[in-house]
Amino acid sequence: MSYDENNIFAKILRGEIPCDKVYEDDYVLSFRDISPQAPVHILVIPKGAYVSIADFSAKGSEEEIAGFWRAVSKIASENDLVDAGFRTIANTGLNGGQEVPHFHIHLLGGRAIGPMVSKAA
Ligand code: 5GP
Repeated sequence: MSYDENNIFAKILRGEIPCDKVYEDDYVLSFRDISPQAPVHILVIPKGAYVSIADFSAKGSEEEIAGFWRAVSKIASENDLVDAGFRTIANTGLNGGQEVPHFHIHLLGGRAIGPMVSKAA
């Protein structure tokens, strides 16, 4: 799948659409999910144009990959998610239910997040 420059997170990265920013550095932008599924629901996206975690992990540079995951750790820590625990989700493709085709990690916390996956068929 080729990268769609007009996906909503690409527009947020370009500043064409506002976001409730949590953190930004050379590698990532992090902001609150517009439709939170938990008391804390933060998204972390790489600044590079990657469709999915598979695309990012295969094609991202060592620097981008290290920068991304270091930032995820920092954001989790700064938002008091680490001690109580939290859920990290990277939906990928059709079966994964990915809606926005720019790689992103969901950080969910602030309460027990519940079963890992829905039992629904
Ligand atoms: P996915 O299903 O692709 O893993 O998750 C996409 C997430 O992006 C959803 O949780 C959705 O609520 C969130 N989202 C979609 N559009 C926007 C937006 O314009 N701003 C923000 N902050 N979040 C968005």
